[in-house]
Amino acid sequence: MTADSEFVFELRVCQRIEREWPPGSPADSVVVARQLGTRHRRWDTVVVECDPGGLAARARFGQRALDSDLLHVVRHAPAEWAWYRDALPDPGYPWRYVREAIHRAADRGVVEARTDGNRLHVRRRWPYPEWVDRIVAVENKPDLDASAARDLAPQLSRDVALALADEVWVATVPTERRIEPVLFEDLPVEAGVLVVGEALEPVWHPRTLPVEDPGTRIVENPSPGGADRSAARFEYADPEWKATKRLEIAERAYERGWRSFAGTMRPDCRHFELRTDGRDILPWCRAKDRNQSARECAGSCPAFEPEPPAWRTRGWPIEGGPGKAIERLLERRRARRRPGPPD
Ligand code: SF4
Repeated sequence: MTADSEFVFELRVCQRIEREWPPGSPADSVVVARQLGTRHRRWDTVVVECDPGGLAARARFGQRALDSDLLHVVRHAPAEWAWYRDALPDPGYPWRYVREAIHRAADRGVVEARTDGNRLHVRRRWPYPEWVDRIVAVENKPDLDASAARDLAPQLSRDVALALADEVWVATVPTERRIEPVLFEDLPVEAGVLVVGEALEPVWHPRTLPVEDPGTRIVENPSPGGADRSAARFEYADPEWKATKRLEIAERAYERGWRSFAGTMRPDCRHFELRTDGRDILPWCRAKDRNQSARECAGSCPAFEPEPPAWRTRGWPIEGGPGKAIERLLERRRARRRPGPPD
């Protein structure tokens, strides 16, 4: 495991957490995704701990994420037909965007809409469930040493100050050495440290962050921990903004999961494979004879060779060649992890 690239390690972390979360317990009702966050901060791995009944009820709204405008509609749509301006709270932006969102929501079948005269009326199909219990952010650092910890510290301090996630962890690999105490001095005490081996071993437990309180966004802090703090700039993040942002992140995690990695790689290359390593499934490049990273597995890869056309016509007449079959396999596995909607 020590030779894993950050990308391959990230895929392992996602799979381990999907099987075991919280550390030491079989995972139940978690949604795991990678490379998600806000405009200002992207987390490597996001774990959404869900209410099981709520997660099943969320399935009624389809696999695609509901963006902030759609969430505004589905969360407030009334049980009985009503004029949309009476039914929905003032969005704080022009109502025409709400009308557009109602039409989009109706097209996706997640609310009902009709016009009465020239008035747009809306009715919900189902209540939007409370499905998100907690959001956990994980930063993956397979080569976590004191210098990597120092580099990570400013980002983690920003996460702690904003408290958008309930917990923040750094995940790393087991080593022969004990984790150096200096490492803990460099990282904020609120961040946990998780060693990802055959099992997940928390070597430092995180503090639960106050997600319902106002947060502080550190916009600029040129010398974190240094003597000159005069240039630091902060912004206030109100609890309502945080609650909406958390739900948007959870929605995107629900749509994307972590298996969407194949979509940013070249499974249509004849050298692309998925291989199992223990219980982990990882991309493998036959040309390079190793796990390739997403960055190198692109159209610009000098070793890229498209699937031969015969692969597409023999045995895969309609659905495409093995590349498409790999994407479908990952999608089927993802679907197996999702509960169906309640009857
Ligand atoms: S040869 Fe390049 S494009 Fe093809 S699977 Fe390997 S890394 Fe990906």
